[in-house]
Amino acid sequence: MSRLVILFVTFLTVLGKNESVFSDFDPEAERSMSCRSDEGQCYVNWHDSVNVGGSIATLMSPNNTNSSDFSSGLAALQQLVDDVYSDGRRMRAYGSKWSLSNVAYTNDVMLNSQGLTYCKVGIDDESHVTSAYKDIRNRLAIVQAGMMVRDVHQALKVKNLALSTTGAGDGQRFAGAISTGTHGSALHYGAMQEFVRALHIVVPGEHVLLQRSTDPVITDAFGEWMDNARVIANDTLFDAAVVSFGSFGVIHALIFEAEPLYELKLQSKQFSYDRIKPVLESLDPSSLGFDGINSDLPFHFEVAINPYNRNTNGCFVRLFEKVTLSDEEFQIQQETGLLDAYDPEETDLFEAVGQAFRPSMGLLPTAAMRKVVFGRGVQFALRKVFQTKSRTEQSKTKKPYEWFTFKGAHDPSTMSPVPGTAFEIGVPAERVVEAVELIFSIVDTDPLAAPVAIRFIKKSRATLAFTKFNLTASIEVSGPYDRVFFRSQIEIRNRIYEAMATSGIPHTYHWGQGFPVNDVWIPSAFGGQLDTWKKTRAEFLGDAIDTFSSDLLEDIGLYP
Ligand SMILES: Cc1cc2nc3c(=O)[nH]c(=O)nc-3n(C[C@H](O)[C@H](O)[C@H](O)COP(=O)(O)OP(=O)(O)OC[C@H]3O[C@@H](n4cnc5c(N)ncnc54)[C@H](O)[C@@H]3O)c2cc1C
Repeated sequence: MSRLVILFVTFLTVLGKNESVFSDFDPEAERSMSCRSDEGQCYVNWHDSVNVGGSIATLMSPNNTNSSDFSSGLAALQQLVDDVYSDGRRMRAYGSKWSLSNVAYTNDVMLNSQGLTYCKVGIDDESHVTSAYKDIRNRLAIVQAGMMVRDVHQALKVKNLALSTTGAGDGQRFAGAISTGTHGSALHYGAMQEFVRALHIVVPGEHVLLQRSTDPVITDAFGEWMDNARVIANDTLFDAAVVSFGSFGVIHALIFEAEPLYELKLQSKQFSYDRIKPVLESLDPSSLGFDGINSDLPFHFEVAINPYNRNTNGCFVRLFEKVTLSDEEFQIQQETGLLDAYDPEETDLFEAVGQAFRPSMGLLPTAAMRKVVFGRGVQFALRKVFQTKSRTEQSKTKKPYEWFTFKGAHDPSTMSPVPGTAFEIGVPAERVVEAVELIFSIVDTDPLAAPVAIRFIKKSRATLAFTKFNLTASIEVSGPYDRVFFRSQIEIRNRIYEAMATSGIPHTYHWGQGFPVNDVWIPSAFGGQLDTWKKTRAEFLGDAIDTFSSDLLEDIGLYP
């Protein structure tokens, strides 16, 4: 038989074999495919993920008419929220559409936040901040919801400031990134929501500034300046709203605290799993032989494993040490233009994995063949991102915004030839080896075109933060998934979800990635915190609660 015939037969076999899987696991396929020809009436996410988005009744895109003032954008938002509420409709805002779940989607009114890009670094008026923040009010910033993380970096760096942490890329919008708890591997700091000090939220009939009562930052005078926002200081309310994926109203702006600009020094290497396993168990990296790294984990510590090469050199470790920049060094860098020009990284792990796979690879007929080819693709992607072979990158020091960006991050959609998906499981750091080996036990027999990437993040106070453990190990599995070539991938992902559910390992899922759409895992992950979140939301929104609800919230038991 010619190769073409074999491929065709394989294709039909795979289609036939997966028909039941398709209907079991893909009930929404019709819906999300039906509207793709009309972008204005359709929500499709950045990675074109299967089962994300679908048709929408109304798309609104409010803007500021004056770029140096937020008032026009705020007024437009207020009008819109009032109208949606009084018409008894539902709405959801979106940022860059990077989420791989339906958290940003409703089929009714969708609000594109991207035109809301006012940003001010430093609060000039002393009366606008509490006494605890007077001396550092130059480090507080007010950012409208639609500002891209990349642009926030640029606004901060000219003032010798930086974000304390971000994700691996910087194409998200500020409200979108915070709302799902986006994180890097800042294991002594936490996820992005940790630097938020106040949320400015629009709900029907009013707009409010929420902050913690135990850490008040802004005053009523600031509220007046913000077009008469009511200031509410309440820990429970702030912690519930800060990671709430659009469920507490429309975020107009965030007030956050930046820190002095710093640099990060890279080291990366490849190992076999027998060297990595004891490090994951002990969190003591001293045996890995990195320069200057003893038993303590540095600022950022990340391990990405190629399941199919793990016993040779398929475990990639990347770490960053934090290097502070003196005022003098900052001055020199600013004057010589060093802060202006930088060359973004080629790609981040997510995008590199997407680009490593061609559609035909998904149709390989045997598990053995898929293991070889997927293993090669994952190894290629990991080498590209971790730069273990690049002598020039090793020990290089760059600003965080130079490391955590990539060339296509600011484009409206991915460069991957196949739609992609990902999930991220959060487990207590001390259970990470068990969870990772459970995943290996599944993908060893049913190969998944994806690496298993681990990052560590400090506990968050946010009520539904996926980083809820003292030290959360996040296990990310990203890769291609479409309806033709890589259809079987969803079945394998579902098996991992099921195995985690019965494993006895406490776990959560990242809201901005794929997760099981059922009402079982959330109560088990969050216990009483779930009731607190629901009660707080109901009290805050009153009869506007339905306005900010969605089918997804209903399906996963967050509403009613
Ligand atoms: C290439 C890529 C790399 C990624 N890397 C990481 C990573 O390193 N670490 C990590 O943690 N995650 C990562 N993610 C996930 C991503 O950071 C999150 O999904 C993030 O929430 C996306 O931000 P966004 O601006 O695209 O928001 P969207 O996906 O558009 O929206 C996210 C949520 O925010 C809500 N929202 C947006 N704007 C508003 C508003 N104005 N008011 C109220 N709610 C609002 C939406 O309703 C939705 O619930 C990655 C995703 C991709 C595609």
